[in-house]
Amino acid sequence: MDASDAEGMLTRDREGAEVIPLRAPRSPCPICGAPATRANRPFCSRRCADLDLGKWLNGSYRIETDEAPPDREDGE
Ligand SMILES: [Zn+2]
Repeated sequence: MDASDAEGMLTRDREGAEVIPLRAPRSPCPICGAPATRANRPFCSRRCADLDLGKWLNGSYRIETDEAPPDREDGE
């Protein structure tokens, strides 16, 4: 009775273990979704920052102003 053939069953538990960064990834660039860089936060690059600025200039974004809406109705 030989019980020495248990070595034949090597359990494989290292199947490309992913290295998960401890820090949460920075929020992605709102323009292209690439990871933002420190220099261009929250964008990934100067280019995307400029693109975002362009959006503002084009009026794609709502620009908050100090002016209150002329007719304000607080129905709720
Ligand atoms: Zn970008």
